[in-house]
Amino acid sequence: MIISDKEFGEVIVRKSAWVTNPKFSVSTSGRLAMSVPAHTSEFLAKRWLNASRKQIRDKLPINDPATQRARDAQKKILSKKARDYLPYRLEFWAQKYGYQYSGLRLSHANTRWGSRSSTGTISLNIGLMKVPEALRDYVIIHELAHINHMDHSDAFWAEVAAHDPHYKRHRKLLKQYSPGV
Ligand SMILES: [Zn+2]
Repeated sequence: MIISDKEFGEVIVRKSAWVTNPKFSVSTSGRLAMSVPAHTSEFLAKRWLNASRKQIRDKLPINDPATQRARDAQKKILSKKARDYLPYRLEFWAQKYGYQYSGLRLSHANTRWGSRSSTGTISLNIGLMKVPEALRDYVIIHELAHINHMDHSDAFWAEVAAHDPHYKRHRKLLKQYSPGV
């Protein structure tokens, strides 16, 4: 359930069987999130929100509604750029080095640039569209190398090095960026 609030913008309300008292936190998008007991009505959730307003304001870094909207807009732009670019770039490197993958999933996780599932699907974060091309290519090559090596063994890194000789530098530079939008 989403509550629209004048001060906090869109408030995400999550119902949980495990919660007895309302708990407030910040969602990855900078929105206020509220965990409430199952069967909580919208009316009651709003009442709790009002009662905790000062405490939330003092303790939680909630984005104001304008910032929430700006972030949504940025995410939309990055998603579009990612859709237009990443499938082709992945295919380019896969063909060049003879890798087979079963599909590409675009993700917007906050902590990971990419991953490879056991079924051969590669996930790439839309946040890659914010980083320089060499670092983006490093992530793609890293995930493709996981097709042959599921771990981060020496053999895995040797394969990455064969396709991206500067991977150590790229890996280090990538740490200056955050995948989250
Ligand atoms: Zn890895």
